[in-house]
Amino acid sequence: MKRAAKPLILCFLLLTFYYESFCWGFYAHRKINYYAVFLLPPEMVVLYKPNIDFISEHAIDPDKRRYGVPDEGPRHYIDIDHYGSYPFDSLPRKWKDAVDKFGEDSVKTYGIVPWHVQTMLFRLTDAFKEKNFSKIMKYSAEIGHYIGDAHVPLHANSNHNGQFTNQKGIHGFWESRVPELLAEKEFNFFIGKAEYIKNPGEYIWDRVLESAKASDSVLLFEKQLTKEFGDDKNIHLKTGTAQL
Ligand SMILES: [Zn+2]
Repeated sequence: MKRAAKPLILCFLLLTFYYESFCWGFYAHRKINYYAVFLLPPEMVVLYKPNIDFISEHAIDPDKRRYGVPDEGPRHYIDIDHYGSYPFDSLPRKWKDAVDKFGEDSVKTYGIVPWHVQTMLFRLTDAFKEKNFSKIMKYSAEIGHYIGDAHVPLHANSNHNGQFTNQKGIHGFWESRVPELLAEKEFNFFIGKAEYIKNPGEYIWDRVLESAKASDSVLLFEKQLTKEFGDDKNIHLKTGTAQL
């Protein structure tokens, strides 16, 4: 591997914030990018720490683009259950193979997040090779967003807003309300130093498979809690009026 690529893979990992994540709204995306900077090795902290406000603020740019750029939406998720059952072997992990098998339009329809993370990694690596500071910052902030999304169970399931199981609103609940209520008190953002990832493609697919595996639990727990506490209480949670 070329020298320039190594710190980028480190960056890739550090931005891979593996906590019990579900899905992320603006608040959580900013937090993820912010704390990721502190996990970097010192040689990289000198670059990112002075720009931590930019890295945090622009974590949400990909979501802001979603309604203006038609190609943007599918970069944030993959409805992997469309391809059968775990571990979804019918879906080739290589982009070209997946497109050859299903056609580009179809692959895009069901979401492309694991491939787009790799595209962003190539762009970021190139930006470092070019020593292009503004591109380095932009792609660093944005790859953090897509990696965050890849860790979200509801971003790896076609029932992403509980629309098939009478759980509408669960997406925003997990994405925004839960982190807003609990991040400061309950979440641990210091999860150890960033480590070098030899095979980023394999790594991100493993994370997506984990997300897909966890999506059933997210939906199931919400159902159980609704049963236990009643739908009234849950509606408050989903609409963001609950005080935990
Ligand atoms: Zn997103």
